[in-house]
This record gives sequence, C-alpha cells and structure tokens, in this order.
Amino acid sequence: MEYENRFRQVQRPKYDCLLFDLDDTLYPLSTGLHKVCTQNIRDYMIEKLGIEKNKIDELSNLLYKNYGTTMAGLRGIGYDFDYDDYHSFVHGKLPYENLKPDPVLRNLLLNLPYRKLIFTNADKVHAVKALSRLGLEDCFEGIICFETLNPINKSNVYDDDDIEFIGSTKTNDLTTTNGATRSKIFDIIGHFAQPNPSAVLPKTPIICKPSENAIEFALKIANLNPQRTLFFEDSVRNIQAGKRVGLHTVQVGTSQKVKGADYALESIHNLRQAVPELWEADIKSDVTYTTKHAVETFVTA
Ligand SMILES: [Mg+2]
Repeated sequence: MEYENRFRQVQRPKYDCLLFDLDDTLYPLSTGLHKVCTQNIRDYMIEKLGIEKNKIDELSNLLYKNYGTTMAGLRGIGYDFDYDDYHSFVHGKLPYENLKPDPVLRNLLLNLPYRKLIFTNADKVHAVKALSRLGLEDCFEGIICFETLNPINKSNVYDDDDIEFIGSTKTNDLTTTNGATRSKIFDIIGHFAQPNPSAVLPKTPIICKPSENAIEFALKIANLNPQRTLFFEDSVRNIQAGKRVGLHTVQVGTSQKVKGADYALESIHNLRQAVPELWEADIKSDVTYTTKHAVETFVTA
C-alpha cells in the first residue's frame, strides 16, 4: 500500500493549472498594441480628465509604480470615471489587425492536458477580442479579467471579507467637461517631491495585478492551489508578486530569468523547450475545454 501511494505520487503531474497573462505574453510586444495602449491612456488623462499635458509623464510613472496600473492610480488619487468608458477609450483604437491567428500556440495549448486560464488586468471586451484574433478563444477554461476582480456590485458576485474593497464615496465632486467627476485630487507629484513624504498614499478601490490580494483573489475564484499552478507573465512585477503568493512562475518575453522567475522564455512558442516537464508526466487527461462558450466561465460582466 505504501509503495502504491509512493508510486501514485511519482506519477502525479506537478501542476494542475496553467495561468496565463494575456497582453505581451500570448503575443509579442512587437505587435505594437502596448505602445498604442500607453498613448491612449495618456490621451484619456488629457482629454477626459483634464490633466495638464506637461504632467502626464511623471504622473503616469508614479501611478503605475505605486498602484499597479495607471487606471487604479487615477482612481486612488481621486479621479472618478466610468470604467467601461475608460476601457473602450484605451482599447477601442488598438491595432487589433496586428494580432494574427497563431496555430502553433493553439496546438501547444490544446495538447497540454491541464486546466488553462487567462488572468488579465484588462477588461472582458479586450480579452475576448484579442483571444479571438489570435484564434485561441476556445483554448481556455475561463478568463479572470478586470470585471471579475472588480464587480460593480460586490455583494452580487464574490463577497469576500478578506479582500479589501474600498468604498467609492465621493465628496465635493467636481464635474469635468467630459462628465467624469473628481473629488479632491491627491497631489501625488507633490507628495513624492518632498524629501520625506509623511502623508500616506490614498488607497484605490481597483483590484489588479501586481497586488498580492488580486492574485490570491484570482486563485480563490478559480479554486487553484498556487503550489500546483504555473503562472505565465511578461511583467517582472507580476512574476515577483506571483512568487510571493506561492505560484510557480514563467517569465515570457526574455530568456534572462529575473528574481522570482522559475523559468524564462523569449516567446511562448518556446514552451516545450523551456518547460519540458509539462509534457513528461504521464497524464490521462479528462480535462478538455473546447467549447466556444468556455471563455465565459469566470467572466462576470
Ligand atoms: Mg502582460
């Protein structure tokens, strides 16, 4: 009996699930989407929120660095705006035509008998559109996206006291020319210009990578054990946050492994060479997700 148990352990694959970031992970940076997206965010800040053009670079850097995403940072420092409006503005004009069907990746994914999920900070519309352009829309069990982590009505979806949702109570709202509202805006540039910033940064209501809360929430939603999950990411910060919560990590987009990465691959196409153990386990798979609607599983919008 003891021998039998040991034998079973040896045969058991190391992972249950492959958890994939989407942008710049399942397709390369060279598609140009990232560059246009960054410019669209800048335009949104100027056109919709009325932020002065000469402050955009410094502000964007500080928000990204301190809040995970510029969007989370904008909300954190007091700008209020419609999330769908933001997402449609920054993603609506992306050069999706640069994303081509990727049959090589599709075959790789479909032949890997593990649970496979997308975990992105982007919204559902963008995720579904990008996956569809890549011809990968039926390769995943579900998509954990912005709406999954930030449901409009928390009590309707994932009510979890461990996750900190900050209320969006507004005071002294000012309406900008484009309808977005802002309460008192926290001067984050001034804050960091002081030699010893004493004030505490305001919190953001938005849950996103690389916050450990966001990753733990995603694991909980999908019922994943981090020790048995392989996490694919292009972002160094996200890789390191993933490692802190116990995930096995694969850095995509470079062959130089950063601290926190267990593997590194120049392109997701190198998966077989870089992580051969995924194919080594003798797995009798009953895990197949090939219906067109499978991607909706965890999408809450
Ligand atoms: Mg990415």
